[in-house]
Amino acid sequence: MHQHFVPHQSFVKRLENMKFLITGGSGFIGSCLIRHLLEHTPHHVLNLDKLTYAGNKESLEDYELDPRYTFIRMDICASDQLKSIVAKFRPNRIVHLAAESHVDRSVHSPDDFIRTNIFGTFSLLQVADAYRNEESKIDFLFHHVSTDEVFGSLGKHGSFSENSPYSPQSPYSASKAASDHLVRAWGATYGLPFVISNCSNNYGPYQYPEKLIPLVILNALKNKSLPIYGTGANVRDWLYVEDHARALYLIATEGRIGQSYNIGGQEEKTNLEVVRTICKLLQERLASESQFRFENLITYVEDRPGHDYRYSIDSKKIQSELGWKPQEDFESGIKKTVDWYLQNRSWGEKYADL
Ligand code: NAD
Repeated sequence: MHQHFVPHQSFVKRLENMKFLITGGSGFIGSCLIRHLLEHTPHHVLNLDKLTYAGNKESLEDYELDPRYTFIRMDICASDQLKSIVAKFRPNRIVHLAAESHVDRSVHSPDDFIRTNIFGTFSLLQVADAYRNEESKIDFLFHHVSTDEVFGSLGKHGSFSENSPYSPQSPYSASKAASDHLVRAWGATYGLPFVISNCSNNYGPYQYPEKLIPLVILNALKNKSLPIYGTGANVRDWLYVEDHARALYLIATEGRIGQSYNIGGQEEKTNLEVVRTICKLLQERLASESQFRFENLITYVEDRPGHDYRYSIDSKKIQSELGWKPQEDFESGIKKTVDWYLQNRSWGEKYADL
């Protein structure tokens, strides 16, 4: 459906030593992508992050002395600063993850979502386009990292493909949809080489504990209630964050310019199933005497307004074109995740007052 927006259809080139500029690299997914780049590739990484409440430098503290890694604290809306940083670093890839990312917060205070997700993306696009015009010989690609929530909500059946119509329902998903549209427009109008990826719900280590899975693990460890919206029947597709990082790298180095790729784990679970699985694992890991202690903490709370019922992702395109598939299923991924939070309690304690 987006074919006519495409400036050119060639596959991107993979170079030996590339420079990746990552925005939002101190967040949950960005830090995982940076760990992937530094551990599994020879490339250089510049991380631009404002360090909002959701950014955490500790997620990358093991790499602070790595000569291939640089961090600059900055707001992507500051276009003059952005311009001089980009001119100096001369990136081959900009992978744009910086965003306000929590749907609940977008319901109560949408301002920052509009500012960072829409205006911030605009600011980055302007700078990226001017840069690649000035440096026309450089191999360059703008990779916009987005969500399946732009497609809206599904009923019991069907999945989102890359051609599904946009139908965002929350201020968060509307701001991400707007940024996807801006990126496509910069491709069509100015010829900016871009790719977009739309991914389902991620989980794994270093996730800020306002999101369901770390919230439930850390609350359970503190004997606090485990809040579930409505009846817990809403369905999400879950993907282990390292599988997302591998997909992002593959798209940024082997994807087709002007295309979008859906990324999902084909692991659809109701929220209640997710919470029960975590309770069961904690019960096993902590060998608690009372069989149902953690489940007893489950509390049903008033549903979120405009709560999308179900998301499901068809990721055949990235599987067939780029040979990607998830290495973790939900069973193995959630075990790794619970174990990580148990072994890294000090990381969660930073957020003890949540
Ligand atoms: P996150 O909230 O953990 O991290 C966002 C990062 O962006 C933080 O480090 C924050 O400091 C930084 N940031 C925010 N505003 C900024 C600004 N104005 N300038 C510079 N940096 C700023 O988010 P995440 O879960 O890692 O998500 C990353 C991206 O992936 C987002 O674009 C999100 O929409 C998308 N995404 C997330 C999921 C998910 O399940 N978490 C799924 C699909 C897509």
